[in-house]
Amino acid sequence: MHTITLIPGDGIGPEITQAVKDIFAAAQVPVQWEELNAGQTTFDQSGELLPQALLDSLERNKVGLKGPLTTPVGKGFRSINITLRQRFDLYQNVRPAITTEGIASRYSGIDLVLFRENTEGLYSGLEVYDERLGIADSISRITLEGCHKICYAAFAYAAKHGRKKVTLAHKANILKLAGSMMINACREVSREFPDIIFEDKIIDNMCMQLVNKPEQFDVIVTTNLFGDILSDLCAGLVGGLGVVSGANIGDTTAIFEAVHGSAPDIAGQGKANPTAMLRSGLMMLHHIGEAGYADRIEQALNATLKQKDKCTGDLGGKASTSEFAQAIIDNLA
Ligand code: NAD
Repeated sequence: MHTITLIPGDGIGPEITQAVKDIFAAAQVPVQWEELNAGQTTFDQSGELLPQALLDSLERNKVGLKGPLTTPVGKGFRSINITLRQRFDLYQNVRPAITTEGIASRYSGIDLVLFRENTEGLYSGLEVYDERLGIADSISRITLEGCHKICYAAFAYAAKHGRKKVTLAHKANILKLAGSMMINACREVSREFPDIIFEDKIIDNMCMQLVNKPEQFDVIVTTNLFGDILSDLCAGLVGGLGVVSGANIGDTTAIFEAVHGSAPDIAGQGKANPTAMLRSGLMMLHHIGEAGYADRIEQALNATLKQKDKCTGDLGGKASTSEFAQAIIDNLA
């Protein structure tokens, strides 16, 4: 039995994490949840944004499954997501984007994995605002060690999973120092993996190529902000935010979460698609060595995705979050 820290999150978080809990229970997955929340919800209840009990639980269990957490725009507290990633040095943000039968998309044949550096760059929290002069500085700091670690993670993943190519997305034509540091780190790492093709593309061209011919990409590696934007772009290529999963991985701890946010526009209405959260849970099962359970649930999910009427509205169905989850449970049999 694995003990996993479960963070329900804000907005649609409690609905979609409940769906995952129900499906895992029906599939008799050997996990027990230690449920603790953070963010706006705990702040409203107890005045704490990131309770110590949650940090202790993650420290103990080393694995978490997290619903989305709301971050106020342009004011208020710093993102709890970023705080958790930096606190546990979860330097890899791994986000697969795959076209799936039953999920409508403009494309077919996409099967790529994005490796986003997760603790540095413009998300370092180094911001200064001089109101008098009307100047705001947002400092993007990356380190050679951080570049090496994320590039190595991307190549090691490619080698382990029989992938053919790693593409680095950067802006080294303008950000000459930081960009070339990332390119050089990636090139150095690539020499350890001679069977894997290494290429690099400037981020603006990368966006155009992704929209134009996404099936050419295999593994993509990039810095924090570019990865944040590219991963939502990739979600749009394969059916939207309701279906794409993610993992924040460090050397000791990992937290799995959907790419999407707390979706306040549909929260509490039973409209949220639980697929992204469930797929993040399946990545977690692979991580803890329970691939058999992951495969069985994935088969049930894929069968359900073909039954349009059993799916949520974003996939063209009319089912609620819990009805969709129940259909997946029915298909487990
Ligand atoms: P969002 O991802 O929450 O929503 C964007 C759009 O996608 C909305 O129309 C929403 O209804 C839809 N959507 C998202 N998830 C869906 C699902 N599972 N099923 C169906 N539709 C879904 O992005 P946003 O509105 O820009 O951000 C809302 C909040 O979430 C912000 O506070 C932001 O900071 C936070 N956020 C958190 C995380 C995280 O916890 N990792 C990630 C991104 C955004």
